[in-house]
Amino acid sequence: MFADIATIFVKAGNGGDGAVTFHREKYVASGGPDGGDGGKGGDIILEVDDNLSTLADFRYKRKYFAENGQKGSGGRCYGKWAPNLTIKVPRGTVVYDNATNRLIVDMSDKETFVLAKGGKGGFGNIHFATSTRQTPRFAKAGAPGEEYEIRLELKLLADVGLIGFPNVGKSTLISVVSMAKPKIANYHFTTLTPVLGVVRMDEENSFVMADIPGLIEGAGEGIGLGHEFLRHVDRCRLLVHVIDASGSEGRDPIDDFEKINRELAVFDEELATRPQIVAANKCDLTDEDKIAELKEYFDKKGIPFFPIMAPIAEGTDELINYVAAELAKLPPIKVYESEPEPEPDYSKKTERDFSIRKEDGVFIVEAPWLLKVMETINPNEYDSLQYFERVLKMSGILAALVKAGVQEGDTVSIYDVEFDYVP
Ligand code: GDP
Ligand code: MG
Repeated sequence: MFADIATIFVKAGNGGDGAVTFHREKYVASGGPDGGDGGKGGDIILEVDDNLSTLADFRYKRKYFAENGQKGSGGRCYGKWAPNLTIKVPRGTVVYDNATNRLIVDMSDKETFVLAKGGKGGFGNIHFATSTRQTPRFAKAGAPGEEYEIRLELKLLADVGLIGFPNVGKSTLISVVSMAKPKIANYHFTTLTPVLGVVRMDEENSFVMADIPGLIEGAGEGIGLGHEFLRHVDRCRLLVHVIDASGSEGRDPIDDFEKINRELAVFDEELATRPQIVAANKCDLTDEDKIAELKEYFDKKGIPFFPIMAPIAEGTDELINYVAAELAKLPPIKVYESEPEPEPDYSKKTERDFSIRKEDGVFIVEAPWLLKVMETINPNEYDSLQYFERVLKMSGILAALVKAGVQEGDTVSIYDVEFDYVP
């Protein structure tokens, strides 16, 4: 089967921990803190590889881990940064967060993307020497690397999609108007893989046509084959709807046309409104009257109508010229915008829960959500500390400390950060 969807787990590397070490030298009684910072964890990078056309590689390898950063060490030594891990995907791959369905990125118009960021290295204790705390015993742990379960969906980059019932002649049509060589046979679902063909108009102009495997009733609701292929029509700027004008398989071409459009609408309302052109194929197997009747039906609906005989390329030039002219008027192929990551809602009670207890005169604050905030705090930066203070204030932690009896100069400990309370 054609692999055009895959779910994988990615985890960027953790940052290395900062070191707690003290300078030691002969004849120097007690040196200052000299523990260096940990190294950054490796990122997970997505990269487009134009030689790939399916997501088949992801069927065998489903977990991707970037390396962790090294720990900091004494003598102000910084830990080594870990290398990034690159994952190659075909162009047109759309990436979703599998848990929330958030669209993370569309790898259509870019070459690389940082999918998961490696954790920052923790600060070594050289950063924590203050006038009051000359021998800091604490350093920061490295931040964890981002991790997600992600879903990759390949959505082909084609200007024109051929749609229609099985056996109406879609594969035959693409094979005569482009260099594509799909399987053509007189049985249903010969096309199990979408086939792309480049239609060359002249030296400068060409467009990409996709032969989408036949749709059958109920495909939009996931019944039977076809539903998974509708994803590939998604970006098409124009649809060429192929019908069997002769009804050679005992069905009515107008009925076929309406059924397919209902399927499109079930899958995606917007898809059903995509500009369509009708190619009435197998005209050799029917008569003038039938063609005239069909033409009248589509004229009334305002849908351009082209009678063709695909195998002998009869009528196909007119069709292709019209398609090219329409494409020139339409906006370019759709590339999806990344959806922003939702901000955690700290106004929700459960999301800003915390607890305060007093141990040996130290006020210990525990609030799991704060860990995420603290990863981003740099204790050396004034702005960063100001921000931290604001978070403590807005979440009600400062007020709760006062209620718990904190006095000026008391030590407050929040995970790996300690500070003296100043009202
Ligand atoms: P698809 O399933 O829509 O891709 O249809 P195919 O292109 O595979 O064609 C199905 C069958 O119809 C094949 O046997 C073709 O040779 C035949 N066919 C395609 N176009 C025509 C046509 O215009 N006239 C006739 N008589 N047969 C056709
Ligand atoms: Mg086919």
